[in-house]
Amino acid sequence: MIELPISFDDVARAHERIAGAVHRTPVLTSTTANARTGAQIFFKCENLQRTGAFKMRGAYNALAQFTAEQRACGVVTFSSGNHAQGIALAAELLGIKAVIVMPLDAPAIKVAATRGYGAEVVMYDRYAEDREAIGNALALERGLTLIPPYDHVHVMAGQGTAAKELIEDAGPLDVLLVPLGGGGLLSGCATAARAMNPGCRVFGVEPEAGNDGQRSFRSGEIVHIATPDTIADGAQTQHLGKHTFAVIRERVDDILTVSDADLVEAMRFFAGHMKITVEPSGCLGAAVALSRRMDFKDQRVGVIVSGGNIDLQRMAMLIQKGA
Ligand SMILES: *Cc1c(COP(=O)(O)O)cnc(C)c1O
Repeated sequence: MIELPISFDDVARAHERIAGAVHRTPVLTSTTANARTGAQIFFKCENLQRTGAFKMRGAYNALAQFTAEQRACGVVTFSSGNHAQGIALAAELLGIKAVIVMPLDAPAIKVAATRGYGAEVVMYDRYAEDREAIGNALALERGLTLIPPYDHVHVMAGQGTAAKELIEDAGPLDVLLVPLGGGGLLSGCATAARAMNPGCRVFGVEPEAGNDGQRSFRSGEIVHIATPDTIADGAQTQHLGKHTFAVIRERVDDILTVSDADLVEAMRFFAGHMKITVEPSGCLGAAVALSRRMDFKDQRVGVIVSGGNIDLQRMAMLIQKGA
């Protein structure tokens, strides 16, 4: 058997490492969601995580393993926002300097929060410049360690702790639905689910407009696309990672897609029925169940609700349209 980049043991050790720094977020249920789908749905609310998204898990797990020299020099990363905030807060907690490369059109709330944690923000044009090249150049120039948003084994293992907690708290599941961008969250969660709950089917969910993950999964090769046009800004990645794809191929059952309209409907459901704010990317998993794109009747369905960072004005505009 080929050895995959991460094992369940890595997720379990990450869980010990991040305890105390990261919240054990609640698992919420909704009678209305269950009635609507005929399933029993368990929502793992990472929108209520510190910094408003699961990214803090992987970020802290990565930075906590820095050597003394790496700690002294600092960390650099590129991100559309939530990974940036995760790195910025984890770095602040561990006393490490952080430099974050962010797109010019990143939501203002995410830029402000990143700066609020004491990080230095370097802006770039995501439609014209290559963020990886900028991050790599900064790392070389200043001796910083680059921690990418998803294709890093410590990040992947850290993200998997969300599913570990969900299965511990909700009990065995029939299905697990996980938002998918670059695959850090999905690879970690699938690794946890496969080990703890072998009968659970694991699905990644990405925006219809950016279905590179689905095409990669089905063709067996990483497909690259242009930055997809979708409201799910946390899942606007152009391709899966080398490490994330290796894990996803082996441990995931399939990749599904939902439309932006499905995401808006799920945002409205969360706000209206469950009184929680969930950003579009955070709705990817839930939208599969709530839109009844798949039939989960009588099944126990776990949903990772991955984040809640959205400007309130933008949220109001989105859920009002077509209301
Ligand atoms: C980053 C992010 C995702 C996608 O996670 P990947 O690890 O890149 O697949 C999904 N939802 C939210 C809210 C995110 O911040």
